[in-house]
Amino acid sequence: MVIWKQIPREQSLIHKRKDVERVMGNNVIEQVFAKDVFNDSVMRERLPKPIYKKLKYIMANGQELDMEVANAVAHAMKEWALERGATHYTHWFQPMTGITAEKHDSFIQPGPDGGVILEFSGKELVKGEPDASSFPNGGIRATFEARGYTAWDCTSPAFLKEDAAGVILCIPTAFCSYTGEALDKKTPLLRSMEAISEQAVRVLRCLGNDTVKDVSCSVGPEQEYFLVDREKYLQRDDLIFTGRTLFGAMPPKGQELDDHYFGTLKERIAAYMKELNNELWSLGILAKTQHNEVAPAQHEMAPIYATANIATDHNQLVMEVMKKVAKRHGLECLLHEKPFAGVNGSGKHNNWSLVTNEGKNLLDPGKTPHENSQFLLFLSAVVRAVDENAALLRLSASNPGNDHRLGANEAPPAIISIFLGEQLTDIVNQLIKTGEATRSKAGGKLLTGVSTLPDLNRDATDRNRTSPFAFTGNKFEFRMVASSLSIAGPNTILNTIVADVLSDFADQLEKAEDKSTAMHDLIEKTLREHQKILFDGNGYAGGWVEEAEKRGLPNTKTMVDAIPEMITDRTVEMFERLKVMNRTELEARVEINYEAYAKAINIEAKTMINMASKRYIPAVINYVTDLAGSINEVVSACPEADTSVQKELLTQSSSLLAQAKAALKKLDESVKAAAEKEEGEEQAIFFKDVVFADMAALRAPIDELEMMVGKEYWPVPTYGDLLFEV
Ligand code: ADP
Ligand code: MG
Repeated sequence: MVIWKQIPREQSLIHKRKDVERVMGNNVIEQVFAKDVFNDSVMRERLPKPIYKKLKYIMANGQELDMEVANAVAHAMKEWALERGATHYTHWFQPMTGITAEKHDSFIQPGPDGGVILEFSGKELVKGEPDASSFPNGGIRATFEARGYTAWDCTSPAFLKEDAAGVILCIPTAFCSYTGEALDKKTPLLRSMEAISEQAVRVLRCLGNDTVKDVSCSVGPEQEYFLVDREKYLQRDDLIFTGRTLFGAMPPKGQELDDHYFGTLKERIAAYMKELNNELWSLGILAKTQHNEVAPAQHEMAPIYATANIATDHNQLVMEVMKKVAKRHGLECLLHEKPFAGVNGSGKHNNWSLVTNEGKNLLDPGKTPHENSQFLLFLSAVVRAVDENAALLRLSASNPGNDHRLGANEAPPAIISIFLGEQLTDIVNQLIKTGEATRSKAGGKLLTGVSTLPDLNRDATDRNRTSPFAFTGNKFEFRMVASSLSIAGPNTILNTIVADVLSDFADQLEKAEDKSTAMHDLIEKTLREHQKILFDGNGYAGGWVEEAEKRGLPNTKTMVDAIPEMITDRTVEMFERLKVMNRTELEARVEINYEAYAKAINIEAKTMINMASKRYIPAVINYVTDLAGSINEVVSACPEADTSVQKELLTQSSSLLAQAKAALKKLDESVKAAAEKEEGEEQAIFFKDVVFADMAALRAPIDELEMMVGKEYWPVPTYGDLLFEV
């Protein structure tokens, strides 16, 4: 156990990095934690009592902010930020690029006598007006206006960011168009949280709970990432422009020894993680778990879960800080889903549950789940929601990079199914077979067989690492999510589809005279009708694909194939009814998805063309020229010498060189053809079917050449250099 050392109050105000490090050296996490956050305790300390009370009321009840409160909060925020050396503030928002955006404004206003005064008004806190036209908007802007607004999301605390630009006060905001359409990822998420809260409360009322006020979704995203040496990274245009290697042969060693997973951290990585934790803790992010992952140079960080909205803001910051800290250590952090072919890629496990304002986790089965009908009702709601919207859920986790992962033998397959585990599966089977569940399998004891080791209590259910949507004790773990993707999208979809089922449950239960019987019947009927989505077996096994097809489960192979799910009549009706997104907003996202895909592949293809023509082909020409020269020299020095090896190498490498050149020409032509296609679906499909295949055809001969050509000729760091020499 660590005993926290108390340090004097004035020291707790320090904020410079080297001071943090000194304090951290003393293990005083408490003093660092959230020191850059304008959180509840700071507000309580700094706001006049009536203002603080009003603000808390507004936050809890989702009411409109009045100017008196806004002005007071703005003033307190400014004073707090100035004390910490801030010069600017920014509305920090999450446009549909998937990353965050900020435009800095300094606090200065002209003062008397040619000087300045530092001001920050309630109006500036509450509303900003960035131009919306340069962010992806999927046509919303074309039909309306360029004007966009950012609006303060008072449910997520403001924070300070420090970089070479100085200290900036960041205010989390939502981003909307002039006509109120959401132009960002946060607004739909917030709406989906309201939707699920409303419907869950309706259901709980039917179960006799008169006190619950709201239900929030808790989210804990586990973030996987790679770290590579920055010097080497800078020599690879593919990593710089696309985040992944577009060429590269496998080194003799990959991940087959399983020696990296949970392995001892290298010093350089450990130093990185230490600083990453410091930075995250300062931002109030509960960085909890860190370890080496399966692939060489791959790692993971998981925070303690938070409300979906805050978890999303935090995860955006986690990704940003991971990249920033890496540079300080001469490293580069790769968040791409598949930076290296042949070893595991990265994902983001999105742990999700529902919790009432009274602190009850609605997905906690308790010791005897068969008797816990409230749990079974919410569980069956999730089961039905996932079954009815499997393809939509798959889309929510997709980006171009994730197409390399889903369905490959490492990550969850592209087919959505739910793992419930032995205990719950048994209960479901009892219910389906007999209409009654009368017992819960218990975990029992685990005997270690060593007298000096304690016997352990075993969980009632083992784990399953292959399931894309697994029940893990008191939450669901959605494992498909792409590592670089904002978790706003997946959680918006999850909340909406579950809210949809809960709303139907509430409709039925509200009408029922005998609520208890109605609830029992509803659970049984739902599980019976949706059992096809339940699968506890190995999701990687070959037979599963056929079995899933027989069950009628969708197997959407690529992101492009999944996009139309967003705009089916069913999806539009559901999103509009639950007021999460309207048709215009959904159509915009469809456009943005097609565009994002086409652009990503276009950049990759162009980078390949560049690298092949400027790097690899000239390097191979040097090699074959030297080889040919050496054959001539050997023959002239000793005409009877055997040069068959050199000649064979020369023939092989020249032939691969010719293949590469032909593939390069073909890729170049198809990229040009893609540019002629109509933007949107048609173009995205062309990139997926034609350009993508041509990219693979160019990669193959170059990777083969890499295995033949002498190391000193090879123009870029290899997989071996990147993965093992960190
Ligand atoms: P594992 O890799 O063993 O699944 P980790 O500890 O890496 O587990 O991550 C589990 C994640 O799930 C953490 O972020 C944790 O905070 C989160 N989590 C735990 N309980 C809940 C819950 N009720 N709701 C949402 N997330 C949760
Ligand atoms: Mg996990």
